[in-house]
Amino acid sequence: CGIVGYVGEKPALDVVLEGLRRLEYRGYDSAGVAVLADGKLATEKRAGKITNLEKTLTEHPLPSGMVGMGHTRWATHGAPNDRNAHPHLDNDGQVAVVHNGIIENFARLRADLEKRGHEMRSDTDTEVVAHLLAEEFEGSLAEAMRRVCRKLDGAFTLVAIHAGDPDVVVAARRNSPLVVGRGAGENFLASDVAAFISHTRNAMEIADGQVVELRRDSITVTDFDGNPVTPKEYYVDWDA
Ligand code: GLU
Repeated sequence: CGIVGYVGEKPALDVVLEGLRRLEYRGYDSAGVAVLADGKLATEKRAGKITNLEKTLTEHPLPSGMVGMGHTRWATHGAPNDRNAHPHLDNDGQVAVVHNGIIENFARLRADLEKRGHEMRSDTDTEVVAHLLAEEFEGSLAEAMRRVCRKLDGAFTLVAIHAGDPDVVVAARRNSPLVVGRGAGENFLASDVAAFISHTRNAMEIADGQVVELRRDSITVTDFDGNPVTPKEYYVDWDA
């Protein structure tokens, strides 16, 4: 339901949790976060309110990293429990993904992945994306995301981070909202500008069928085939 991504010079977890709280008004049943710290992926997720997740994070803190993402879930496939909360991981825990929307062809993708040895740990439509990203990854998470998007039917905003491409947050969209916030030495993405306007009001529209690769100091947008796109920039001049 709500999505936040961050890469920059601040502890990503703080930025991501603040962003998720700003999207709370939209309603949700679970919340989760992932960060990359020293090239390793760390995640936590809980059914219930964000305060539930924060309590767990206080008891079992995640290592501090400057690349991260967060999600609030409104369950469509699979009960609203800890296991089905996002992020979802591949078998090796190298890549994490969060998702808004519905992957219509997940059942077939899931059956194929299981035949190839992937083990599903949730009942969601989303989890197939983590396993597909792991299969397609050859060093560039953005390239893996483009290949995976071409296999997906349905509506999605996807955000992913990968331990093997540790300085980037990658996102993609089709018929589901995604905006980028451009900062100085840091960049943001979210399902709604409300998540980042306390940090920057310089926003960028990511259109349907596009993938964005966010680094501390660059924002690269392409279509699903890898053709470069120049995104439309605008200034958010309203109060949220
Ligand atoms: N379809 C996904 C799920 O049920 C994402 C739901 C959402 O948009 O939050 O987990």
